[in-house]
Amino acid sequence: MQIAFETLNVKLTPDRYTPEDLLLAKKAYDLAFQAHNGQLRKSGEPYFVHPLITAMKLADMRLPIEIIIAGLLHDVPEDTEVELDEIRNAFGDDIANMVNGVTKLGHVQYRGLDRYVENLRKMFLAMAQDVRVVFIKFADRMHNMETLYVIPEHKRRRIAKEVMEIYAPIANRLGMGEYRGLFEDYAFRYLEPKEYNWTKHLLEQRIKKAGPAIEKAIKAVEDELSLHGIKPLSVHGRTKYCYSLFKKLKRYDDDITKVYDIMALRIVVGDVGECYAALGILHGLYTPLSGRIKDYISQPKPNGYQSLHTTVFDDQGTILEFQIRTNEMHEEAEYGIAAHWRYKEQPGEKEQRLEWMNDLIKIQKELEEEDFMNRLDELKLDMFQDRIFVFTPNGDVFDLPSGSTPIDFAYHVHTDIGNKAGGVKINNQIANLNTPLRSGDMCEIIVEKNRQGPNADWLKFVKTQHAREKIRDSLKKTKKSFFSGFMGRK
Ligand code: MN
Repeated sequence: MQIAFETLNVKLTPDRYTPEDLLLAKKAYDLAFQAHNGQLRKSGEPYFVHPLITAMKLADMRLPIEIIIAGLLHDVPEDTEVELDEIRNAFGDDIANMVNGVTKLGHVQYRGLDRYVENLRKMFLAMAQDVRVVFIKFADRMHNMETLYVIPEHKRRRIAKEVMEIYAPIANRLGMGEYRGLFEDYAFRYLEPKEYNWTKHLLEQRIKKAGPAIEKAIKAVEDELSLHGIKPLSVHGRTKYCYSLFKKLKRYDDDITKVYDIMALRIVVGDVGECYAALGILHGLYTPLSGRIKDYISQPKPNGYQSLHTTVFDDQGTILEFQIRTNEMHEEAEYGIAAHWRYKEQPGEKEQRLEWMNDLIKIQKELEEEDFMNRLDELKLDMFQDRIFVFTPNGDVFDLPSGSTPIDFAYHVHTDIGNKAGGVKINNQIANLNTPLRSGDMCEIIVEKNRQGPNADWLKFVKTQHAREKIRDSLKKTKKSFFSGFMGRK
């Protein structure tokens, strides 16, 4: 495996990245390379290959350089001697905060179905703070899925389940079609190997069979479009993802002849006008199947997907599905919300955040209509209202009213931890027990084993009814035992 800077550098093309961008990327490359030096992955490769490929995936999405840099550095504070502060000093707050966000998200672990909602929340929480962290985490996880075979069997299943239950649905919600498709296929392969192999075999057979017809159609369509003065940006075939085909087959009693979009042809043109023109030209060339024309341009899918779809017969009677779209629609479909970050001319941070919030509100609305998310009632109520989400050091999350303090947190974890709270570390820094916590904080209560009970002063600052009651209960008990001891001595 080549790990020269060049493998990343070739993706940082001058139409998108400035010379300063490249210098900064090289600086991050050097830091990460040095920091991971000598570490190996389970596969035996140098560890640095992993952050490098993560960064390359982000570059493939043509995301801004600071996201790519955070991708290079994403495992540095957690897995090496180099601390977050060094990254902060060298690259500034923005990049350091992203790296920190990815590290925190890394503590999120899927621990079976009961944790499902909780984990989803954690992901959403991270997104709400900075969606760029989610892009990095997705690229990171994608590379881990690509190399999942080196991981022991029992761990593989857990990771695959996490990807199927959490990553893929969120990629879908964010309109990131490529990530959703790949996440599902990787997870499917490890979760249901028999079904996966069966579907994959079917798919390969289909591709072999339909391949020549597709090749022929690409040529015929290109010729016909240019005859009418339309120069498509691209005409290409695309194959359905395995898991998506599997689900569809289940809906059609495994009858593959009823699934028309196993292989589809994509026509990418310059503008919306050309989309409709191309549709007309296509229907002159081939016979459309009635009732199969879908106009997702005038009526986009809930996740924002836009394209024209039509199914036709070619002269041999082969059924072909076409998807017609502009380049913007194409990129939206593949990269979803990440596509919005691609061409922006240095947006102010506020602006970025605002736009992200708007997107999120849209997603929230859409969640309400989706069956799958209907179970997550709580999520909808709590999100962005007046709740904060605080992590324990091992990745559990507790949601509390905003303004809650480490004492509130401690009593939510366990009454004994509240009663014996002697101090607190917030994000690994010693802090006061009355410090208001913020969403995303990692809170570690320092327990004083010999502590008799709570301090009455805590009642002055706790925010939750729960903590207040527990403190009062404990104080009453301590008083009682004090008095009974006192009376006893008399
Ligand atoms: Mn990683």
